[in-house]
Amino acid sequence: MALQLKDSKEQIYRTTSQKQIILDYLKSVKSHPSAEKVYSVVKKKLPRISKATVYRNLKDFKKRGEAQTIISQGKSHFDADTSSHAHFICLDCNKIFDVFENACTNCSVIKNKKPKVGKIENYKINFYGHCKKCK
Ligand SMILES: [Zn+2]
Ligand SMILES: [Zn+2]
Repeated sequence: MALQLKDSKEQIYRTTSQKQIILDYLKSVKSHPSAEKVYSVVKKKLPRISKATVYRNLKDFKKRGEAQTIISQGKSHFDADTSSHAHFICLDCNKIFDVFENACTNCSVIKNKKPKVGKIENYKINFYGHCKKCK
């Protein structure tokens, strides 16, 4: 019985620190990594972590509002910045860049958050184009 308790405590500790390492990585980058990219980076710190664990954690972050996803080329990319901000997706290199609200001050819908259909709580806007490097 005592052994079991110890095991479950270790299990909780391990799960928490894995989760924290994945979230810390996501918070430290602005590159909006895909699940595969997150897995390849996290694996360097946690060699024993499985792909399934990383994917499950990413799903949980999204469910709990700790991260948001942006779809590019049919793939989910993760962003730990959950504030309302638009994204620019390069059609050539598939990189995702943040476009913040103050860059869209001329957009009246974003500015007063009240289009005719109702009140906006948050938004997801993707701009598609060619980034400075690819242009
Ligand atoms: Zn590009
Ligand atoms: Zn973003």
